[in-house]
Amino acid sequence: MPIEKLQRISLMDLELNFQEVEQGFTNQEAIEEANRCLYCYDAPCIKACPTGIDIPTFIKKIASDNLLGSSKTIMSSNPVGASCARVCPTEELCEGACVLNHSTTPIMIGKLQRFATDWAIQNDRTLFEPGIPNGRKVAIIGAGPAGLSAARELARYGYEVTIFEAAEKAGGLNTYGIVSFRLPQRISYWEVDQVKKLNVKFLTNAKIGKDISVQELMENFDRIVLAAGMGHVPSLDIEGESLDGVHDAIEFVKATKTGKVSNHLIGKRVVVIGAGNTAIDGANCSVRLGAENVKILYRRTAEEMTAYDFEYEFAKMDGVEFRWLTAPKRIIGDENGKVIGVECYKMKLGEPESDGRCWPIAVEGSEYVIPADAVIKAIGQTRHTDLIEQLGIDHRGGVVQVNPETLQTSNPKIVACGDIIFGKGKGDAMVVTAAQQGKMAAYALHKQFTSVDSPV
Ligand SMILES: Cc1cc2nc3c(=O)[nH]c(=O)nc-3n(C[C@H](O)[C@H](O)[C@H](O)COP(=O)(O)OP(=O)(O)OC[C@H]3O[C@@H](n4cnc5c(N)ncnc54)[C@H](O)[C@@H]3O)c2cc1C
Ligand code: SF4
Repeated sequence: MPIEKLQRISLMDLELNFQEVEQGFTNQEAIEEANRCLYCYDAPCIKACPTGIDIPTFIKKIASDNLLGSSKTIMSSNPVGASCARVCPTEELCEGACVLNHSTTPIMIGKLQRFATDWAIQNDRTLFEPGIPNGRKVAIIGAGPAGLSAARELARYGYEVTIFEAAEKAGGLNTYGIVSFRLPQRISYWEVDQVKKLNVKFLTNAKIGKDISVQELMENFDRIVLAAGMGHVPSLDIEGESLDGVHDAIEFVKATKTGKVSNHLIGKRVVVIGAGNTAIDGANCSVRLGAENVKILYRRTAEEMTAYDFEYEFAKMDGVEFRWLTAPKRIIGDENGKVIGVECYKMKLGEPESDGRCWPIAVEGSEYVIPADAVIKAIGQTRHTDLIEQLGIDHRGGVVQVNPETLQTSNPKIVACGDIIFGKGKGDAMVVTAAQQGKMAAYALHKQFTSVDSPV
């Protein structure tokens, strides 16, 4: 489309681009799909779900029109089950394990999960009750999926739970990080409300280590759950990063989720650096903001990229181009300090590293320039090393070290869960894993006080 025409696109048109893409099932579609399930004994789909949702049971309840029961089955195993219905890589998890893969197509478990949880959202159902107060106080640092999940379980056991959240709103990356055309904020807010209804106190705009000291937490609470996730996108350590037009992918996506959609990319060329889910989300958002051309640069090949297959396909459908074996050498600016291009190296793969992926090496003399009006950095996330050190617990490069069974840190009064314990080279972190670890952290703390084993 010619640029003049593109520039007439209104902000309202752009906002429409951020509406949820995937349509939910109709009643009839849901019932038909639910009736295809074989309700397998020893169902492999349950084992493939990190939170162990009783999938055949929730599907059976849809088939018998018991949507309250179905949503309870889902949410009791996964406190962020409505978000997961939209963002889980189901083809790698439950649907990938469905026995029907061998004969026909797998049950669309994610869409059925969405159908049941959407019903609970639309009908404003409160699914759980708080436990009888036991007089013990737990502080949770971070209100993302891991913190919410831990809070929900602890509140059901009767703990007095306070969540401290640095951001203005709770929900973590479900609220601010995962693009709204896949996960609208209202879904995340409903999950937060479910936890609030269990008398969990939420203190937002409260950053531990800055607004409230670690000392204060240690003195006023019996136990601490550390669920602070990861931080912003790290520096590329190349020339030109401070130019006008260079963005942090997470902040970039956050702006689109918090109503700051603008027309500054209409007709522009965008280069995204990185090939994880964050990079894909940054690229897809650029397309939806009207960019004329979006290229993802990755220093390795499609084989090694960490983005999920469905994200990759989604980006290709949005017209995003991929430049494999390409790494930035510097970002080039004009005399006004505005981005005009990225000088790149061609790369080749060297020996495999400890995580099995080959180390990329720049090919000498291969430099060339890709013209660009904006650059989005998406090469992972930094770690909350400062906070971890203030808490005085062991970590390796900002990854908190925990006992894998109990998620206990080197301080027995602190457990940690979610992205803050997620190590490098393990693919991309997932909401569903954070949710499961939140549950495990809650059960481990409860066991410290009661010696009672809880279902994990
Ligand atoms: C762009 C993007 C797209 C993604 N897409 C997917 C996807 O499609 N599917 C999927 O399964 N996963 C996806 N993920 C990963 C997923 O979002 C994370 O694995 C998950 O959110 C981790 O949950 P968490 O609770 O550990 O951390 P977070 O969601 O990061 O929550 C941590 C919370 O702690 C707060 N916090 C941090 N420091 C402090 C402090 N000092 N004091 C108080 N609060 C603090 C933060 O503000 C934040 O709210 C994506 C991630 C990104 C960045
Ligand atoms: S494996 Fe497939 S068919 Fe069997 S219970 Fe799970 S969803 Fe149903």
